[in-house]
Amino acid sequence: MPPVLTIDDVSIEYNTREGPVRAVRGASLTLERGEIVALVGESGSGKTTLGLGILRILPRNADQTSGTIRYEHRDVGEMDRHELQRIRGDQISMIFQDPIAGLNPIITVGQQVEEVITSHRTVSKVEARERSIEALNAMRLPDPLRVAKSFPGELSGGMCQRIMIAIATALDPQVLIADEPTASLDVTVQAQILYELERLRDERGTAILLITHDMGVVAQIAERVAIIYAGKVMEVDDVIPLYRQPRHPYTWALLDTLPRLDRRRGSRLRQIPGGLPDLASEEIGEHCAYLDRCPKALTQCRTDSEPELREVVGGRIRQRVACYNPVLEV
Ligand code: SF4
Repeated sequence: MPPVLTIDDVSIEYNTREGPVRAVRGASLTLERGEIVALVGESGSGKTTLGLGILRILPRNADQTSGTIRYEHRDVGEMDRHELQRIRGDQISMIFQDPIAGLNPIITVGQQVEEVITSHRTVSKVEARERSIEALNAMRLPDPLRVAKSFPGELSGGMCQRIMIAIATALDPQVLIADEPTASLDVTVQAQILYELERLRDERGTAILLITHDMGVVAQIAERVAIIYAGKVMEVDDVIPLYRQPRHPYTWALLDTLPRLDRRRGSRLRQIPGGLPDLASEEIGEHCAYLDRCPKALTQCRTDSEPELREVVGGRIRQRVACYNPVLEV
């Protein structure tokens, strides 16, 4: 069966006064049915831009400059406005980091779920209401009838995020793009939301692209991980081999920032020194984007053009990494 979503060599630029900002550069990734793939990177790495690009809801000053995005066999870039409207929310949905900002504060929760249903299905008012209660119930919101009559401001952040997921999944989409869905929530609510995403995958076969900066969240629910840095996918692999044996120095550094039991109590959480390169610079793409922060840089990294993803074999493990000097042993 073909992947439900295929991102092939996609580049996206923002047009700014300072010139084009190359936010996503030649990204490729696939998403299979019933799979959770995490797209991981720091703030500004291009992961949200890629998520918006999939649904073609980029800001006005942004353009996809190359590559294709296919939903099943259809090229999203070739779809007209009507086809895109049919697909958005119905077959591909997205949830965002800030659930309260994503909900309309002056419309009841129930009406907001009903609106999504009636905009894609020909159903009576009564049926739309029943289906909206079902959607809220599926997210295990306590007393869904009461929640449906509430305004978002009357509910907690965790409840609002469940409502956002209920809205995004009310029509049973094939693909859910979840952009930092737990970032603004406390740890307990975070675990509950991750559990709901897992249930969607297991019970409905939803394919989920989880956009996050948090490697701890990834370890809990994703099957595969793509590490993105300065708009470029640096490493792609199944979760377990990637955590056991990260190959790219950036992946290694990201994992090194996680809290660990074997570190001295009171020791500070590590941070990756330095910052992202200037994506508006004309030099971007001439050399490895991680060069200035990389402790493993070779002369080749300064003289050769940016490395592309290639297969690296270490021991019995094969991984795909864009690096001239990958980590072979941890
Ligand atoms: S290509 Fe060179 S600079 Fe870039 S991550 Fe690999 S070792 Fe570091």
